[in-house]
This record gives sequence, structure tokens and C-alpha cells, in this order.
Amino acid sequence: LDYRSTRFLMSAPNPEQLPPDEGAEAAFAGRSNAGKSSALNALTDQRQLARISKTPGRTQQINVFPVTDHQRLIDLPGYGYAKAPAALRAHWQQTLPRYLETRRSLRGLVLIMDIRHPLTDSDRQMLAWCAAAGLPAHILLNKADKLRRGPAGNALQKVRATLAREFPGTSVQLFSSTVPMGVDEARARLDDWLAG
Ligand code: GDP
Repeated sequence: LDYRSTRFLMSAPNPEQLPPDEGAEAAFAGRSNAGKSSALNALTDQRQLARISKTPGRTQQINVFPVTDHQRLIDLPGYGYAKAPAALRAHWQQTLPRYLETRRSLRGLVLIMDIRHPLTDSDRQMLAWCAAAGLPAHILLNKADKLRRGPAGNALQKVRATLAREFPGTSVQLFSSTVPMGVDEARARLDDWLAG
């Protein structure tokens, strides 16, 4: 797919307001500040998308980015944001697993983590929901540019080993939105899900 053709369609406060459950979509999730907006930006080669995700009022919504008429990227609300009201957090605790389980066009979840703080409790929660839903997950260890090559490789191996034990089948790669690095590998994974 040509991810540079990605554009913004809409923000939905709830999964019920998403476009019709047809075609194929890949969802993006991650702890706030892990670099989800920057990763979407790098993958689509479009600065505009990240800015939309950051618009006040849209950060706690689901942003829909069609790549084509039948293939979409779905930007889920960032989690672990301390300032988010408890009621809103509770809302997403209920809403996200239901979306992951019931959305038929959903092919996989891309989970963005800061390579220096991988696999937080919230990340594990997300992976557990994917496992329960039988949904494949792919992890981007973002900000890999913050580590030297050796430590980055070690972090990758460590996460890979943990995943093999706790969430078998989950794939992981190094990524950097700023270099950029790992973009082609991530696009190939998206292609597996969206173009397959
Ligand atoms: P989000 O809250 O997950 O959408 O995170 P953002 O995309 O807004 O990124 C959070 C911060 O991390 C920003 O200051 C970005 O510039 C920075 N950032 C994001 N990706 C990278 C990366 O790959 N490398 C580095 N060094 N900084 C990054």
C-alpha cells in the first residue's frame, strides 16, 4: 500500500461511531508520549496526521485515517495519561477490549513503546486484550535513536524473549520516528494485515 496517500477522515468518540465495519483496518495504541503520533507521521510520511491526533479534544477520541477507500489506520487514544479523568479511563477500559473483540475489519494492533520503558502494565493489558480477541499485535520499540546500536539490540532481544513467554506470536522491531528507522519493516507488517 502507498501509506503516503493516507488522509484524515474523522474523529469518533466511541467505536460505535466509526465508519462501517468493512474492508480492513489496523489500530495504533500506546502509552501517551511513547510517540504514537510521530510513528503515524513517519509511516505515512505526513506531518499533518500527527498534528490532527494532537488537536485538543481529539486526543481522547478515535481518529480514522483512510489509506484507500477500503483500508484504514485507526489511532486509538493514548493511555497512561495521568491527567485523564478517572471516569474517562474507566470508559476506555471497557470500550477498548470490546472494540478489539467485535470489530470484524480489524486485522491487527500496532503497539508503540518507548524502547527505554517497554512493556508497562498498560502495554501488557493491551496485549492481553489482543490475545483474548485472537488479534495479532506488532510492537514498535520507538525512540531507538536514543540508544546506541548494542543496547538497542539487547533491548529488542529482551522484549522478544519476554513476548515469547507471555504473549507468543507477538512480533517486535526497532523503530525511530526521527531518524527515521524501521519504517519499511513496519509498513510490511501493515501490508500483511491490510493488503493480504
Ligand atoms: P504520543 O503522545 O504517543 O503521540 O507521542 P508524540 O508523537 O507526541 O511524541 C512524544 C515525544 O517524543 C515528542 O517530544 C517527540 O518529538 C518525541 N519522539 C517521538 N518519536 C521519537 C523518536 O523516534 N525519537 C526521539 N528521539 N524522539 C521521539
